[in-house]
Amino acid sequence: LYVEPDLALGGAVALQKEQSLYLAAVLRKVVGDEVVLFNGRDGAWRTRLTSDSKKSVTLEVVEQVAAQTPPSELWYGFAPLKTERLDYVIQKATEMGAGIIQPVLTRYTQVSRLKHDRLVANAIEASEQCEVLTVPVVAPETTLEKLLSTWGAEQGDRQLILADESEASASPVEQVAALRGQKVGLLIGPEGGFSEEERQVLRAQAFVTPVSLGPRILRADTAAVAGLALIQAIIGD
Ligand code: SAM
Repeated sequence: LYVEPDLALGGAVALQKEQSLYLAAVLRKVVGDEVVLFNGRDGAWRTRLTSDSKKSVTLEVVEQVAAQTPPSELWYGFAPLKTERLDYVIQKATEMGAGIIQPVLTRYTQVSRLKHDRLVANAIEASEQCEVLTVPVVAPETTLEKLLSTWGAEQGDRQLILADESEASASPVEQVAALRGQKVGLLIGPEGGFSEEERQVLRAQAFVTPVSLGPRILRADTAAVAGLALIQAIIGD
């Protein structure tokens, strides 16, 4: 379970109302039961319930069970999708080990107003489910134009893998393997794809590697999972 407070041996943690209700009423935890907590900073800790009140569960911190992992360098940029698919890509990007999740508004992006809190909540929930101790950073949305003009300054020497269904190269595995040892990002377009102009501008950048994810057009959410799996299988992070 993800919590805000610091976690240290012998410390006490009081849960908020919603999490108390979840532990006491849904999971039926009672005094003496154990729960693993993490906060994205102090690793994972075994804790024991000292109160099982549905309004305010408290726990004592018993033992560290995992050290904090360093944040992942993998950057994932995507054009925002409609609600359910948006929730899905945040969950999957978190599971697949993205460290920075960046919504990018493009010409054909249909969704421009994002509920940032909801995206963060999705990243936290996926982290809880998949034991990701460092919750990815969900950055505020930016435009493709701004992203490209600040790429070097903000992303350093990170290479950008552009998922591009028009890419003719038949060897995405070799293309990604050639980036081993470098920080990388993955950029996925919107439901309507990138405009021809956007695609040209992107492909002209020295830091961009256009990669095909196979001969079929994938949905943007499927392309995200396929692209992140390709990167993790070859480079890992
Ligand atoms: N209309 C569908 C949808 O609703 O999601 C398909 C959209 S597809 C054009 C969206 C993005 O997925 C593209 O901009 C590209 O980044 C990525 N994509 C889809 N198929 C791909 C492929 N075969 N190779 C590489 N990237 C792909």
